[in-house]
Amino acid sequence: MRIDLHTHSTASDGTLTPVELVGAASAAGLDVVGLTDHDTTSGWAAATGALPAGLTLVPGAELSCRWHGVAPGIALHLLAYLFDPAEPRLAAELARVRLARERRAERMVELLRADGIDVSWPEVLADAAGGTVGRPHLARALVRLELVTTVSEAFGPAWLGERYRLPKEDIEVMHGLSLIRAAGGVAVFAHPRASVRGRIVPDSLIVELAAAGLFGLEAEHEDHTPQQRAHVRAMAADLGLVVTGSSDFHGSNKTVALGANLTDPAAYEKIVAAASGADPVTG
Ligand code: AMP
Ligand code: FE
Ligand code: FE
Ligand code: ZN
Repeated sequence: MRIDLHTHSTASDGTLTPVELVGAASAAGLDVVGLTDHDTTSGWAAATGALPAGLTLVPGAELSCRWHGVAPGIALHLLAYLFDPAEPRLAAELARVRLARERRAERMVELLRADGIDVSWPEVLADAAGGTVGRPHLARALVRLELVTTVSEAFGPAWLGERYRLPKEDIEVMHGLSLIRAAGGVAVFAHPRASVRGRIVPDSLIVELAAAGLFGLEAEHEDHTPQQRAHVRAMAADLGLVVTGSSDFHGSNKTVALGANLTDPAAYEKIVAAASGADPVTG
């Protein structure tokens, strides 16, 4: 069983549509794929409707959260699996975050334009195609303008990494966890030790999250070193949490391939058994 539980489509900042994504997952030899767009479930229906025979879809989302235990707070991501997308409190919180992201991206375009960079907001919005707008869409606009050669370069400090970066609205992490659980979902902390992405939260927060119902930790992720993977695995064992592995595939916005990291079938089965908001769908 090849199980990849963390991918992005054009419903957020991936480059494959949900339909193309499930096709690519099947072509990559996956048996199970999790669709976890940032703060949205808008890709679920199209992905479900296009499932190739033999592929199982785990509907999910990746929630943009923040821990306020230090100032300024530290950003972190919770993967939410198999929750009820119609549960009103979670749906409202996701809608709030998406709307705020859109305003933030528009203000970042204004900052670029004030410096004489001819980025067009309608074009960026159109590129997001109704999905969650993020810096990757702005990065692609900078690539189109030939101001940078790659999306990664656009994330450098001279561009979206610092100079034109604005803070993002997010969800207080304990609140996010409780919303996921109340919607029948299972929560897994995404890339918890990926210091390459910025500041990371202390182990003590992971202990608190586990006590509040966190179900798993994503250990196998390209942003973790072998030492970080081992540390996450050890913590999961100590706390009785499952361990997952996934690609965090973003299409051509990143270089990682589908199936680059995988989740053990036993961990997957536990996630499915613990969820009550939605079921995996098999094509
Ligand atoms: P945002 O949520 O709008 O701040 O944008 C963050 C998203 O940008 C992440 O979810 C990644 O998909 C993407 N990202 C962050 N850093 C990089 C990078 N160095 N190269 C390419 N994509 C990146
Ligand atoms: Fe992303
Ligand atoms: Fe993430
Ligand atoms: Zn992700």
